[in-house]
Amino acid sequence: MRRRERLAAATASIACALALFTASPAPAAQGGHGPATDPYFPLDGNRGYDVQHYDLGLDYTPAAHLLVAEATITAKAERTLSEFGLDYSGPQIERVLVNGAAAPYRWDGRKLVVSPAVPPCRGESFTVRVGYRGEPGPIDDPALGIYGWVTTEDGAVALNEPDGARSWYPVNDDLRDKATYTFRITTPTGVTALANGEQQGAPVVDGDRTTVTWAMAKPMASYLSMVAIGNFRVTRSLVGGIPNTTAYDPAGAGDDSFLHRTTGEVMTWDAARFGPYPFDSVGGIIDPSGVGYSLETQSRPVYETPPDEGLIVHEIAHQWFGDSVTPKSWQDIWLNEGFATYVEWLWQEDHGGPSARQTFDDLYATPADDPFWLLKTGDPGRDQMFDYNAVYLRGAMTLQQLRTVLGDHDFFALLRAWQEKYRHANADTGDLRRLAERISGKDLGPLFQAWLYTEGKPAPLS
Ligand SMILES: [Zn+2]
Repeated sequence: MRRRERLAAATASIACALALFTASPAPAAQGGHGPATDPYFPLDGNRGYDVQHYDLGLDYTPAAHLLVAEATITAKAERTLSEFGLDYSGPQIERVLVNGAAAPYRWDGRKLVVSPAVPPCRGESFTVRVGYRGEPGPIDDPALGIYGWVTTEDGAVALNEPDGARSWYPVNDDLRDKATYTFRITTPTGVTALANGEQQGAPVVDGDRTTVTWAMAKPMASYLSMVAIGNFRVTRSLVGGIPNTTAYDPAGAGDDSFLHRTTGEVMTWDAARFGPYPFDSVGGIIDPSGVGYSLETQSRPVYETPPDEGLIVHEIAHQWFGDSVTPKSWQDIWLNEGFATYVEWLWQEDHGGPSARQTFDDLYATPADDPFWLLKTGDPGRDQMFDYNAVYLRGAMTLQQLRTVLGDHDFFALLRAWQEKYRHANADTGDLRRLAERISGKDLGPLFQAWLYTEGKPAPLS
């Protein structure tokens, strides 16, 4: 649908008015995403529409750090949109079009507010196209560090957790608004560009520039979207019938042979325990970015240096716990990190290492006055959301306690049911508790309260 004429505009307004007139005033009419904002990131997220797809055309020249981009967002209106917001703090905006027609907008460097000439009606699909150009940069948060669009020696890598997507494309940065993605990346010929998902056909060379297209066909939260541009050597094979694509920067230490092999082994091991792998490809990228962390970017985690086995186990576990089943808000990040850490413990248990119970016992010996027990695992606070003790280790300990109470049969049934019920969707701690109680028939309120919402060392299980 492009360039409506005046008559069409009038017709659309009448159609929207009729839709409004007949619309139910029930809360559901306000949109399907619940509260407008995340308690930890109140500036992020927007109401009134549901993004279906992001098509990101990114032309990047590493030597100039120059990005010339066009993002086309396909969304469904949940009310008549005389105005709507997008999260965006990237390079200068050059134009905004809604359904092909130029749209007035205002932008304060953080929130892009668009006022379409013809407001999309409730229930209608519409497109927003945003052209922008300039030098993107990362977000440097005093508590959370560097994330978003990060320039590297030979290119750039985008690592968005928790809200860095806005540094390189306009986005509805709400964990609950998952969408599919297409990345069309143009670079000087000889530079390699990778992204989430599967490569679509061969790269297209046009003069001295090459365009490669990647697609993520399964729903993805924006914090898991990724591009990596630079000098990479790429290894491809098939594992479990899907492409395994890994890459490494030859300027860094080591190569990707261990990553490639181990990624396939770990994926197969996980699938046998938690249910089918959620995506259509797998892999990993080793890119010396200097950010100080690895990230479970969907289908293809990014590592700073060649990872050891435990790190690969952690990031591949996230493909189930975090990427497919995603929290509804960042307060519940223990659902990502506690699970991924607990899967590391399960892997050790299954590969001649200590049992998960032993790992738990060693940590539980930490004295009650140790800061280890200080924060609440189920609500660590925005600035402590990546606290290793409270969120990762005590998150995993919570799961070990749950396993002890439920027994192995019900606990592993819970993990599989969790994956099946919330596949490609969102869930919170309450959803986990309800599912665990349904499977076990036990009241788990005291356990969840003591381990997630109480500061201090919980008492031993009676
Ligand atoms: Zn993690």
